[in-house]
Amino acid sequence: MAQYYTDLALSHSQLLEIRDEFIKEARKGLRGEKSTCLMAPTMVDILPDGDEIGEYYAIDIGGTNFRSIHATLSDKKGEVVNVEMEDNAIPEEYFSCHADQLFDLLASSLLDFAKRHGRHSEDRQLPIGFCFSFPCTHTAIGEAIMVKLTKKFENDGLVGQDPAKGLQRALDRQKANFRVAALINDSVGTLAGGCYVDADTKIGVILGTGTNACYVEEARNISSLAGKNGQGQQRPLMAINTEWGNFDASSLPSTDIDRELDADTPNAGNHHFEKMVSGMYLGEVARRAILKLAEEAELFGLEVPPQLREPWALTTPALAKIDEDASWLLSSTAQVLSETLGLPASLCTHTACLRVKQVCNLVARRSAALVAACLAGLLKQIGRDGSSTRMQPTTIAVDGGLFEHYQAYRGYLRTNLDQLLGRQVSAMVKIVQIRDASSMGAAYLAAAIDEDT
Ligand code: ADP
Repeated sequence: MAQYYTDLALSHSQLLEIRDEFIKEARKGLRGEKSTCLMAPTMVDILPDGDEIGEYYAIDIGGTNFRSIHATLSDKKGEVVNVEMEDNAIPEEYFSCHADQLFDLLASSLLDFAKRHGRHSEDRQLPIGFCFSFPCTHTAIGEAIMVKLTKKFENDGLVGQDPAKGLQRALDRQKANFRVAALINDSVGTLAGGCYVDADTKIGVILGTGTNACYVEEARNISSLAGKNGQGQQRPLMAINTEWGNFDASSLPSTDIDRELDADTPNAGNHHFEKMVSGMYLGEVARRAILKLAEEAELFGLEVPPQLREPWALTTPALAKIDEDASWLLSSTAQVLSETLGLPASLCTHTACLRVKQVCNLVARRSAALVAACLAGLLKQIGRDGSSTRMQPTTIAVDGGLFEHYQAYRGYLRTNLDQLLGRQVSAMVKIVQIRDASSMGAAYLAAAIDEDT
């Protein structure tokens, strides 16, 4: 039993090794070599700095909803006067219709939204940001080729096509005076969202159902750009989409639980980092560990409660509730076990609850430690790890339900980063939560592009 505890806990030296292997993978990706981290150039070579002013629109399409955004940016640095957002569920038939119809839906909704909020300029084509969180190869800041369909989408006319052009054609059909100026994913949106409110932002991180990170890299380090527009590259910096969810290296911990979980997922063999880190998986990792304790150490008595064998029965919010349980005799843990796994109160002894809480804590801490190790890697890559002569203040912007709703997790991330960077350097690194970052980031980016042209 103790084995599971030792396997899930990561030592400082392991984390340093993971940090270094992450840097190696990242650099391979930047050179365009085979790497578990794609390190995709986003072509976003301009970012907001909080000085943008005016009214801007964006559209953000996720897995089940799409959102229209109208933001009025203040003349006070980094401040927003007003934000309006409208979420619409994507009707079922739009997951399989032709892409043109899907884009028509987005365009008409945005136009209708714009007529109700703020202004819709008749005389000037307003740049808009388009947050489109699907795998794409970017060829310019507002231009990309969609690589593959994910989530529930099965539409013809998307793969191999440019989603920005598709939306632009639909806007033109609607006679909407908008120009799709930026096509980004949610991690770039988080970076841009962070940059607007805090110009020291260099990294944007998603910690929600999935995980990803985007950061500001020097263009001269991105040799994979050569032959694209690398030669003609004018600007010194570019946002890189790490796609770190797929990061893998020999130093990454891989317990029996991780291997078994991976084998049972549709994308087995891929996304090892994400499966140890993100909100989609943490509850399931913990359930499998608790099941092993029940089978091998009779945690709930001689019989293993059958509900414990139900895959995905323990969600990450439930794990968080157990980990943060400060109630007398862990009554809250017993309640979660009863509500989510249907365990009768008689089986939820104080000892059993204590063990379950320890497991949940280890799984969450391991996730935060892994994220901190990779963040330390990115900070090192951009010279913000204290190794350069003058450490500059640096901000990491984070969005996603795991970070937003799980307070203890935020603490684990901070502590691990402090340990990896050393307190003095770490004091210069802020980790801030940016709510609705991908949507807001798309609007801020449209503003930054507008001011630049
Ligand atoms: P998405 O990533 O799906 O776009 P969110 O950023 O809202 O959406 O993240 C949702 C994820 O956040 C959920 O899948 C869940 O794993 C995690 N989450 C939500 N609430 C909590 C909570 N209270 N504690 C821990 N994790 C949570």
